[in-house]
Amino acid sequence: MEPSDIIRAEISALSAYHVQHSAGLIKLDAMENPYRFPSSLQDALLARLATASLNRYPSADAPDLKAAIRHAMNIPNELDILLGNGSDEIIQIIAMALAKPGATLLSVEPAFVMFKMIATFCGLNYVGVPLTTDFEIDVEAMLVAIQRDHPAVTFIAYPNNPTGNLFSRDAIARIISACEQHHGLVVVDEAYFAFSSESFLPDIVHYPNVVLMRTVSKLGLAGARLGMLIGDRRWLQEFDKLRLPYNINILTQTAVTFAMAHYDALLAQARLITDERTRLAAALSALPGIHVFPSQANFLLIRVDDATRVFSTFVSRKILVKNPSQSHSLLSNTLRLTVGTPDENDAMISALQATPGI
Ligand SMILES: *Cc1c(COP(=O)(O)O)cnc(C)c1O
Repeated sequence: MEPSDIIRAEISALSAYHVQHSAGLIKLDAMENPYRFPSSLQDALLARLATASLNRYPSADAPDLKAAIRHAMNIPNELDILLGNGSDEIIQIIAMALAKPGATLLSVEPAFVMFKMIATFCGLNYVGVPLTTDFEIDVEAMLVAIQRDHPAVTFIAYPNNPTGNLFSRDAIARIISACEQHHGLVVVDEAYFAFSSESFLPDIVHYPNVVLMRTVSKLGLAGARLGMLIGDRRWLQEFDKLRLPYNINILTQTAVTFAMAHYDALLAQARLITDERTRLAAALSALPGIHVFPSQANFLLIRVDDATRVFSTFVSRKILVKNPSQSHSLLSNTLRLTVGTPDENDAMISALQATPGI
């Protein structure tokens, strides 16, 4: 027999999430924080990890870690926290919980690719409403989709990936109330909160149908794999039933609890990155033939005349960025550049300066 005799057709049709080889390259393709954990704290972290009980299953609901996150991120007491092995796992938990036959997951396009992939994994119908050409939400089209499909869940990243912008709050508020009328949950995904001037955290207590997702990945702890869902207990206690036992391993619990006690050091790194974002955006805007889109995240989306050619220039200089041009018509001839260290950003600037006519 063949696997295709029994594998679901929609899974056969997928290609696996592609991770680019990066050995020997300046890695600016995946929105990682370029700075390591502060060296002044490494010995203390190591001491904690050395005494962690690797022989035991980790705490199943990680109360110490949750308390440290609650304190660091100032999460109101009336909201609960659910932890995932990365926020990807949380998207999957939500999708599994809501995957009644015929149920729809709605998002915008272009958006974070895992919204669509996970909808497919879980057997949800996926609907993606295109953004406008300046990457704003097309509210009227979203309202039409909500009326037509009654999405069980709508995912909105704030700021959005791969475009980097914050959508209009008013647009999001209109979507939230339309979803409430049609009994749909809205997940606001704040993966880039550390680099953004805006958040929905103070607002979610006012909405019965909104939960908020965050991750420590872009904050400097991508290797730890920890994401979180913040919201009303009525929602989180249902989602918690789908969480696999012990999904957050002891090394992650120990390391992130420690890191949250030194949250200021991570935020200081995030500030260095946002300062560099400003400098990089100004330097690139000054070059002919490059359009830099506004960003509230730790990356910049740029448009050039020929993204394939610019991407090759980067590769020849051992710089790896993301070329999302083929993934959506609104992204034609764009490149997504993660903000790196000043030296790494200088390397991107000189690569672009050296590309005649861009
Ligand atoms: C990176 C990213 C995530 C994934 O975060 P993990 O916690 O690393 O799984 C989620 N949402 C958006 C919008 C992202 O860009």
